[in-house]
Amino acid sequence: MGNEVILRVMGLKKYFPLRRTLKEILMFKKGRSVKAVDGIDFDIHRGEVFCLVGESGCGKTTTGRLVTRLIPPTSGRMLFKPSPQTLKHLPKEILVDGEYVELSSKLPKNISRLLRREIQIIFQDPFGSLNPRMKVYDILKEPLIIHGIGSTEDERRKLIFKALEEVKLTPPEEFTGRFPHMLSGGQRQRVAIARALLLGPSLIVADEPVSMLDVSIRAEILQLMIDLKEKRGLTYIFITHDLAVASYICNRIAVMYLGKIVEVAPTDEIINKTLHPYTKALLAAVPEPDPSNRFKIREVPIKGEVPSAVVIPPGCRFHPRCPYAMDVCRREEPPSIEYSPHHKVSCWLYARR
Ligand code: SF4
Repeated sequence: MGNEVILRVMGLKKYFPLRRTLKEILMFKKGRSVKAVDGIDFDIHRGEVFCLVGESGCGKTTTGRLVTRLIPPTSGRMLFKPSPQTLKHLPKEILVDGEYVELSSKLPKNISRLLRREIQIIFQDPFGSLNPRMKVYDILKEPLIIHGIGSTEDERRKLIFKALEEVKLTPPEEFTGRFPHMLSGGQRQRVAIARALLLGPSLIVADEPVSMLDVSIRAEILQLMIDLKEKRGLTYIFITHDLAVASYICNRIAVMYLGKIVEVAPTDEIINKTLHPYTKALLAAVPEPDPSNRFKIREVPIKGEVPSAVVIPPGCRFHPRCPYAMDVCRREEPPSIEYSPHHKVSCWLYARR
């Protein structure tokens, strides 16, 4: 992993407006919104596995969808550095600092298509993400046709077979004629990974890619993803609710809570020098089969449920559940504090005041 920043996210927000109630209409009140992502900043380096971790509803999946441009942001910026091959096809006037492209829904179609090849997504549910009426061969051929890759059927067949071999579905001819329901969960996820690889991406957003698989095959799929990353020089944004999975595959972890990143650090620091009370609570929830396990933090009780992303608590949004909440926490939002060069935390406990 080098220092080259492949993706720069700044002040990213995504609000989903709710339909106005009759009372709001009658009282001329503005409609409310679900603040799924509420102003996040992060950089991703080429070749790293950057993890977004948090409970359901924290905004991690929405962030993945924003990066892959499946949904447009409400505000904020995302600057992406394409591979040199793509860069030479891009007009200079759309580049920022000569090498970045602003990811937005307003990009011309041809540029948008080029960038789609560069940023791919793997979904949580391998069954739902594969068309049940298509055979594996056609599922994999579809993106090649859409992006005009391979000029003859023979060329496309070679690419498809190579991708299946890369994800260890061998011999490929045994799988190309099958429908998704004729595959196991792990095999389906391998097909989904092969489909993402076919377009030659440099950044892959993996949204809970192993959470629906049997525990016995999770490690195999994670290892496959690590091997492919090394072989192809990929960069991953890995989305998971499971800190144990994150610690297995990720170089850095960003912990999200109610649309904000509350702590970000290299994986070892998150596990061994945990700062934020919410991260401590997530670690405490990781099952510990072996008492000498490295997740040593225990007994950090947090109260209640995650509040609604419509009515965000004032001050620190974690304060209603935090065992350490102080007066300032109820009044003022904590700033992002650089605790050490690569470790940032948003919590008043670490502010030098
Ligand atoms: Fe808890 Fe206060 Fe830190 Fe928020 S800022 S996590 S309420 S101590």
